Amino acid sequence: MGVKLKMLKVGFVGWRGMVGSVLLQRMMQEGDFSSINPVFFSTSNVGGNSPEIGVQLPKLSDAYSVEQLAKLDVIVTAQGSEYTQKMLPELRNKGFSGYWLDASSGLRMDDDAVIALDPINKTVIDAALNNGIKNYCVGNCTVSLMLMALGGLFEQNLVEWVNNMTYQAASGAGANSMRELLSQSGQIYLNVKDLLNDSSSNILAIDDNVSQTLRGSQIKTQYLGAPLAGSVIPWIDCAVENGQTREEWKGAAETNKILGLSANTIKVDGLCVRVGSMRCHSQAITLKLTDKKLSIDDITQILLNHNQWVKIIPNNKPDTLKYLSPAAVSGTLDIVVGRLRKLTFGEDYLTLFTVGDQLLWGAAEPLRRMLNIVVKHG
Ligand code: NAP
Repeated sequence: MGVKLKMLKVGFVGWRGMVGSVLLQRMMQEGDFSSINPVFFSTSNVGGNSPEIGVQLPKLSDAYSVEQLAKLDVIVTAQGSEYTQKMLPELRNKGFSGYWLDASSGLRMDDDAVIALDPINKTVIDAALNNGIKNYCVGNCTVSLMLMALGGLFEQNLVEWVNNMTYQAASGAGANSMRELLSQSGQIYLNVKDLLNDSSSNILAIDDNVSQTLRGSQIKTQYLGAPLAGSVIPWIDCAVENGQTREEWKGAAETNKILGLSANTIKVDGLCVRVGSMRCHSQAITLKLTDKKLSIDDITQILLNHNQWVKIIPNNKPDTLKYLSPAAVSGTLDIVVGRLRKLTFGEDYLTLFTVGDQLLWGAAEPLRRMLNIVVKHG
């Protein structure tokens, strides 16, 4: 009879947030909790009830207790980078030698941290585990989704550069931003309801009412910083030196790190925009191919052959409206790629539109899969 391996004690911090909630949902769907001993932590409700995951659990532990965290084999956090930057150094100083798996950007560019997206860089992850690396992060959501969509082209060195213009969902900014988007929509509707219900009202009066609401003081903007319902916000995260936002800077930095490229790096740049979808980040991508002889059929096969989650949507209106949108993709692991065509600029310029659920492949799913890889590694 084989020896039963001791189950790893895994602590979860940030499980109540957007990413954490989706992580728990996916782990329950996949039965992942049966192979670990889970312990749940909180920064705001120590002693409260742990989440319902179908097994008896102790009350919530203190996410700021180095002593309690240090007893764990693995810490999975979706609490954010401030938490990581505060707690991880303290824990390592106290001798914590377990795995730290992180949804935040806090460690991503550190030399002793690997950005994990196993359908793209499993060999990098395996080498790091064998070399004793203990810190693993998931990548920026738009970067991970772009790599999942275009994995085949990157794998075959067919990309010279990428320009990605993003349409990022409110949930990318966390649970409170999603709530704020909905309350903004509700406020707009409340103010315009009477005009809307009157079929003889003037459309310009309706439009003016909405604009006044958007510019007035009733709209709550505490988390989003500006109205998002009925509008867009072409700024995500803080500024970096060259006019990019940090979200835009991550495009090249993280893509090349995930692909393990330090020389012959791939240029990635674009504009990142918050839009009023609830879930899913969409991207309009233009890229320069290194081989202009590739046909759209060739490219379709390369993308489909790379991973099982890519779905190619034919470049026509009915299929685009039905399948190529956050409404169609939210809550699924599908990475849809459509509007695929060569630009009129020349045969080496490819354009496409892609949508993926950033809470799944952009955050929770690589984290969940990395935890399973660690559990198997022992
Ligand atoms: P979030 O929803 O704001 O949750 C983070 C923490 O905020 C929770 O763990 C919770 O901590 C606290 N919180 C405060 N008010 C809350 C409320 N009303 N509902 C739920 N939680 C609330 O943040 P997130 O979007 O999950 O992001 C977590 C980390 O993952 C960040 O570093 C983010 O950059 C990164 N990330 C996010 C995404 C995304 O699409 N959202 C994608 C990739 C990476 P307590 O329970 O301890 O109070």
